Amino acid sequence: MSKAWHSVWVVWVNICRFVLAAVFIFSGFVKVNDLHGFFYKAEEYVVALGLEGWITPLWTHGAAYCLATIELTAGLLLLFGVSRILAIAFTLLSLLFFTPLTLWLALTDAVKDCGCFGDVLILTNWQTFAKNAVLLPMALSLAFGRKSIVRSVTPKTGWIISLYSGLFAIGLGLYCLSQLPVLDNSPYHAGVNLRQAMEIPEGAPMDKLETTFLMEKDGLRQTFTDEDYPTEPGWALLETKTRVVERGYVPPIQDFWLKEMGTGRDVTDEVLDRPGYTLLLVMVDLNLASERYIDRLNELFDYCKDNGHAVYAVTVSSEAEVERWREVTGAEYPFLRGDDTQLKMMVRDNPGILILKDGTILKKVSDANCPTEEELAEGMLEQLSQDPQTVLDWKRTVARIVLWFCCPLLLLIAIDALFLRRWRQRREERKESKNCNTINQLINEKKMRKNIVAGNWKMNKTLQEGIELAKELNEALANEKPNCDVIICTPFIHLASVTPLVDAAKIGVGAENCADKVSGAYTGEVSAAMVASTGAKYVILGHSERRAYYGETVEILKEKVQLALANGLTPIFCIGEVLEEREANKQNEVVAAQLESVFALEAADFAKIILAYEPVWAIGTGKTATPAQAQEIHAFIRSTVQAKYGKEIAENCSILYGGSCKPSNAKELFANPDVDGGLIGGAALKVADFKGIIDAFN
Ligand code: PEP
Repeated sequence: MSKAWHSVWVVWVNICRFVLAAVFIFSGFVKVNDLHGFFYKAEEYVVALGLEGWITPLWTHGAAYCLATIELTAGLLLLFGVSRILAIAFTLLSLLFFTPLTLWLALTDAVKDCGCFGDVLILTNWQTFAKNAVLLPMALSLAFGRKSIVRSVTPKTGWIISLYSGLFAIGLGLYCLSQLPVLDNSPYHAGVNLRQAMEIPEGAPMDKLETTFLMEKDGLRQTFTDEDYPTEPGWALLETKTRVVERGYVPPIQDFWLKEMGTGRDVTDEVLDRPGYTLLLVMVDLNLASERYIDRLNELFDYCKDNGHAVYAVTVSSEAEVERWREVTGAEYPFLRGDDTQLKMMVRDNPGILILKDGTILKKVSDANCPTEEELAEGMLEQLSQDPQTVLDWKRTVARIVLWFCCPLLLLIAIDALFLRRWRQRREERKESKNCNTINQLINEKKMRKNIVAGNWKMNKTLQEGIELAKELNEALANEKPNCDVIICTPFIHLASVTPLVDAAKIGVGAENCADKVSGAYTGEVSAAMVASTGAKYVILGHSERRAYYGETVEILKEKVQLALANGLTPIFCIGEVLEEREANKQNEVVAAQLESVFALEAADFAKIILAYEPVWAIGTGKTATPAQAQEIHAFIRSTVQAKYGKEIAENCSILYGGSCKPSNAKELFANPDVDGGLIGGAALKVADFKGIIDAFN
């Protein structure tokens, strides 16, 4: 992909991410806020799908709760660009599931409105399908371009945000379930006068209706309207149809009625026009109503009766169910019957309480917050009527919820940054030093050197691709602690960009070569000082490809090694025989001769270098040295080093194996006592493969 296209792609992926984040946060929040409403909607789906015999309400509610909280969490994760795989997987799977489902709804109208934005934004089924049809390709773009998602936070705070977002969604859901929705969008919110909300104001536009008449005359059928209704005789009327062509004024509350249980007498006016306080205990379905706070409800009734306030329970349940409720709970309050949809809208709890004064809603509470006798005696109702809850204030409520989210999160991030991170670091250090002590004891006879997996990108990857690869590797190791040092050696032009991108504590960066001259008129060359100035710490020297194609001799390499060390770089010095030499069993001789480039060093300098044995016949050929072959020659190299510099330096020297090393053979090769890791070519170009090789040390 060209640079320009790549930039366009990154912008597009991030637009998709923010659009999906906004939609999922909004739709998740309205559901979490009004879980009872979402439970009712989920029950409608169960009925529409004919599953009511299979799924109990408890399962339906549980599934709806999970869906709502996961939806909100996924939106938050997308917004911050953290836990991307999880967030994208949920987003994509839910759209793959809901897009066909909403198409079915649009075609059949099996559920009147999909409920994806609760009661806050009601879309028609076709609008919902269109929305999903637009979002699905966006989710697919995210899935393909997940690596292009720009994180809004550092990887170190990512885990806190992921965990906290999930807990916030779960907690908010539980809060709204036990209390009432924090944002009450129903027409029955505090401050509403029920009678006024049911009235159609004078002069308000009425529904415009159109009536059509299907008529027949002499076997000919024709449809007429009022305008062209036939006047000549002989037409027989077959059918009349009336439809609304233009909606008139729709009052916020419709179909509100209350009837006395048993007699069926309509008491709507009586209740609405009653002066003073009236408490409606809304218990939509007594079979599902919670019996947890029944004593408080009974006490409330006793107090109200003694003080001249009216209390009615309102339900859709049958008389037999009311009788059972009375028996179980000892309830003495009178029961009224109401409209199912209206009762569900009135208060999102079962039971829930509506406190009215002169037909105006003063407050709505869940049964858990049922006013106590003390509160009532202390004048709670009077206080409410002097200071009624005002009409829904969206801006303040949303700001409050954002603060609920942000304040604890910022606190957690601060605690993590100030204490937890340091504590983790110290624990790691303690663990490491403990390990080191034990290892040192073991190592006095055994291995004391570092295990290393180093990648050699060779002449692969454009700058942009290299940056992506480095970022991806960094991400893959973000939450890991590899059991080896990880190094990536990149083309020169990548170094300055890649070095600051990766976590230096986990990934070292190196060059693939450097000049054998300090500086000056050497067109095209890059000096060791230049490499070091990019922040790189390593340099591969003596790779067989440079020996073969660029004529690098033992003498030239001597210069390079010294310049690298003088500039603070650690050389990864490669040695290895070609096929003919192996076939002639000359490998030991060959590597010993190649080692002369580094054997010119003082012991203290030699102690700084890493050796890499790379049989040329195995490099990029798919042929690998067997573990036994590798061990044999690595042991030979170590013994040669020992002969030159002594046991301690030899035991401390890491000798890597290189040549078609892959995740499938790395473990076996690295299990050899003298193989301390690998120098990896082809497999370093794919993070999954490179990581697989790193994991060989786990
Ligand atoms: C290399 O060139 O250093 C190398 C080991 O390559 P490959 O892993 O592709 O054989």
